[in-house]
Amino acid sequence: MTIMSESEAPLRLLILGAHPDDAEYSAGGLAALYRSLGYVVRMVSATNGEAGHHKTYGPKLVERRKLEAAAAAAVIGAEHEVGDERDGRLWNTEELRERLIRAIRTFRPDLVLSHRPQDYHPDHRSLGQAVVDAAYLLTVPAICPDVPHLTKMPVFGAMFDRFTRPCPFEPTVVIDIAPVWDKKLAMLESHESQFFEWLPYNMGMPAIPFNKEQRRKFLDKWMREMATSTRPSLESAIKRIYGRDMCDKVQLVEAFEISQYAHEPDRDLLHRLFPMMPKQPY
Ligand SMILES: [Zn+2]
Repeated sequence: MTIMSESEAPLRLLILGAHPDDAEYSAGGLAALYRSLGYVVRMVSATNGEAGHHKTYGPKLVERRKLEAAAAAAVIGAEHEVGDERDGRLWNTEELRERLIRAIRTFRPDLVLSHRPQDYHPDHRSLGQAVVDAAYLLTVPAICPDVPHLTKMPVFGAMFDRFTRPCPFEPTVVIDIAPVWDKKLAMLESHESQFFEWLPYNMGMPAIPFNKEQRRKFLDKWMREMATSTRPSLESAIKRIYGRDMCDKVQLVEAFEISQYAHEPDRDLLHRLFPMMPKQPY
């Protein structure tokens, strides 16, 4: 029998999204890269997604979205969970915070990702703040004493957003997701109710193709346009991380802001958590 040292054990990534497609949308590339390295990935939606459609709401939509989340996770072999908080009605309560503390302590992640508390969607804001509030208390034995407290704080990070008030997203980490772009698209494609129905309706897009091949093309084009529109805000970080020569080659990215309110990784730990990114010189 061999016992793995801590540095050899597969890393554990926990992505906490407010809705069943948030993890895939903002961190699906990282999740796919982690899985390709044999690491453990768990994608959680705090809410049940019951409000994410213009024609069907409530339990019928919840059932559909649970199946979609399962299909998306199966694309990369990730664990997943759709919680039962109500979509569009998520509040940063003591109960939510303690549920998060128990969930994080039980999974024992190396890296936790969620939303920033600054965001357009109230559920993202509530969850982002609840995750920040939960972080320190993970190590406090008197809080949720029924689940053993953590003796080692994970690294926490926020998934990219484009909002600048009260403060813009600061990309600590930018990863090139071109090698897993198709996997990410396949995950998003699994969320049919969102990417081919609700979001196009909500965004006022024209009719969506029905045929599977055309849908893939439509999604690919849409996501590439999104990547192009957000890239200018990441340009200086890409230059810093990849160097001026490589900068233009790194087009399809995901970015994360490492939290100051949990374990702040040194250069070696950052490299271990994000081995797909060049090791930083500081
Ligand atoms: Zn969301």
